[in-house]
Amino acid sequence: MDLRSRTALFCAALALAIATSVLLRARVRQLQVLFAAFAADVGLWYLSQALVGIVHQKGLLVRASEILAVLMPQLAVRLFSAIVPSPSPLLPTREAPSYAPQRARLHRLATLAALPLVALVVSPYHAHDAVRVLLFVYTAGLTGVALWHLAAEGRASGSRAVVARTRFLAAVGALAAVFTLADFLSLLGARLPPVGAVLSIVFLFVLSQSLQSARLLDLYDLAGRLLVATALAFAIAGIFWLFVSFVGAFNTMYLNAVLASIAILVLFNPLQAKVEAYTHQIFFRERFDLESAAGTMRKRLAHVLEVREMSAIVVAGLEESRRITSAALFLREEGAVQPGGTAFVLDAHLGDAPAVARVEEGSSRTLLDRLTQRRVAVRDEVERELSDALDAGDAHAVAQARELYMRLDGIGAGAAFAIEGDDKELVGIFVVNDDRVRDAFTPEELTLFEGLAGQLSTVIENSRAYARVKERDRLAALGAMAAGLAHEVKNPLGAIKGAAQLLAEEEGRASGDQEFVGIILEEVDRLDRVVSSILDYARPRSTEVPPIDVNGAVRRTMQILAPTHEEGLEIRVDLDEDLPHARIDPEQLRQVLMNLVTNAVQAMGGRGRLSVTTVHRRRARPSGAVASEHGAVEVRVADTGPGISAKVLKNLFVPFFTTKTSGTGLGLAISQRIVQSAGGIIDVQTAAGVGTIFTIVLPAHDAPPSASAATHDLERRASRPEGVAGA
Ligand code: ADP
Repeated sequence: MDLRSRTALFCAALALAIATSVLLRARVRQLQVLFAAFAADVGLWYLSQALVGIVHQKGLLVRASEILAVLMPQLAVRLFSAIVPSPSPLLPTREAPSYAPQRARLHRLATLAALPLVALVVSPYHAHDAVRVLLFVYTAGLTGVALWHLAAEGRASGSRAVVARTRFLAAVGALAAVFTLADFLSLLGARLPPVGAVLSIVFLFVLSQSLQSARLLDLYDLAGRLLVATALAFAIAGIFWLFVSFVGAFNTMYLNAVLASIAILVLFNPLQAKVEAYTHQIFFRERFDLESAAGTMRKRLAHVLEVREMSAIVVAGLEESRRITSAALFLREEGAVQPGGTAFVLDAHLGDAPAVARVEEGSSRTLLDRLTQRRVAVRDEVERELSDALDAGDAHAVAQARELYMRLDGIGAGAAFAIEGDDKELVGIFVVNDDRVRDAFTPEELTLFEGLAGQLSTVIENSRAYARVKERDRLAALGAMAAGLAHEVKNPLGAIKGAAQLLAEEEGRASGDQEFVGIILEEVDRLDRVVSSILDYARPRSTEVPPIDVNGAVRRTMQILAPTHEEGLEIRVDLDEDLPHARIDPEQLRQVLMNLVTNAVQAMGGRGRLSVTTVHRRRARPSGAVASEHGAVEVRVADTGPGISAKVLKNLFVPFFTTKTSGTGLGLAISQRIVQSAGGIIDVQTAAGVGTIFTIVLPAHDAPPSASAATHDLERRASRPEGVAGA
């Protein structure tokens, strides 16, 4: 058996093995069946080629081989058409290119061309040279058309993944076809090595791999790596050739091999890096640009402490890369929490502004959950999930995927990445999009963006730490100032008050004078309150306090306040008797409650319902608020007042911010400081015209008193009114 026959036999076995392997896979669809038929046809054709050299009775074999050759481009045309996926008809945003009419025309043309050839092959003239030439032209022509069509359909699909895949497949297919046809030159006497057969098997293998998953960009990378390896091999062969030509011929082979090896070993690493850089630059230009833009961004971000500067760097860097058409950065809203839960607000964007500038926890749960769990959400992947869910008839999954798709579309995300805080909670969303193509981002690019999002997390965390330090410095300065103030203002104030009181006590004053003295005394008292509050705000807080019974503190506060309330005010106190302890100074907690209750009563103008509730929350709130292993203790102060406008809400905890004529604007600022130094937070939920709920959330110090009794839990579920005062 000669080399050609041996190679043909070997390739036949491999092609048949590949055909079988595809049929053995879990999901066999029309595409897999078509592929298996095509691979089997190729395998059998090679088998017939191998046997032609061995058997003596050739007539039947040659006919069989010719029939297989007629079939081959027929199958190729249909297989290649099936490779380019039809766009999902369910998704509203993209226009769907339809290839159906061209495909039908191509298939009809192929069938028409095959009919006369089949007739010729079965006729007695099948061995005629003209028939052979006709067969050759038909096979070469139709295969070429099929490959060209594959690449054209891929290009028209608008999906980068499909373009890359089809271009690669068409190129390898064309190589295999050209070399297979060249093999036939041997019939004319040319002695070429049977490269075509080997390339055909490579093509079949690549094709079979490409049917395995929908996302085939790795094929492109495979090509890239092959390219790098080939270039490297040539460079090394070149070095070896230099040694052979300069040091001597093959009689000094051993010496040459040693010298060349040393040179190669020394040069290999830098050479590899250079070759890789050049091939990437030439063949993967866009990614190369993105990589270098990301590198520059990372370097610049390493020195940034302000979130605003960070956004500017990211926007500028992405614009430079020209890899995307739009990008956006959403950051978690700081401070008060709205009724819709945590919200992420658009901070900066590049290109078109996203349709939605605010992502609310309440309405975007699906998106936020996906980002928390997987850190990345890619719109095209969700699209695929949707069509899989539709195939599987899973209504829940369909609804979920659709919802996720809409949310991603709303924020203009081809891909969205989680920006996580220190404790893994979501602090922002980084969004990129390339609306020029579908499947815009390769896995490597996605990883690159993910890395960038990771660095944004670091910058945000650092900026927060920096803000805390700044705040501490500010407070230290304020403390020193307040101490001075106490000395400079409080003492003269005392003197003024004393003098005014003396004046007031003097007999026989005109009533006008008395009124003025009254004003002096009132205003002195007010000034005194302001100065005391400033001192209070600036006083350092001791952290080591014993755990206390929060219910007790609430009860006492309500007792003190009860007599001062007017009629028309309904007060409800619901205490969770199974409340764990919390570490906080009871005096300070009372001060906080006092502030919250007074604000609530004032907001309602003395008419409405005030409820004070305590609860044990077993798990951390979704907004990432405090909790210990025992959960959190919550004290809620709810009113039925007018609610808080967005403008006021933003400044709620800012010292000296007040909307009241006689307010100090320090009540909430001090309350927040107290609760934060106890490791907790104050949460605000408000709705215009409905009311406001302030919640003090403190980490629970221990397990609730009756943690073991599940029955208790049931009893406790309906919170019991502890007392109702007022009308
Ligand atoms: P002050 O009470 O001295 O104004 P605070 O810091 O306690 O200072 O409150 C700041 C502002 O927050 C108030 O002036 C008020 O506008 C607003 N506010 C606080 N609590 C409520 C509430 N329950 N309902 C409506 N507005 C409120």
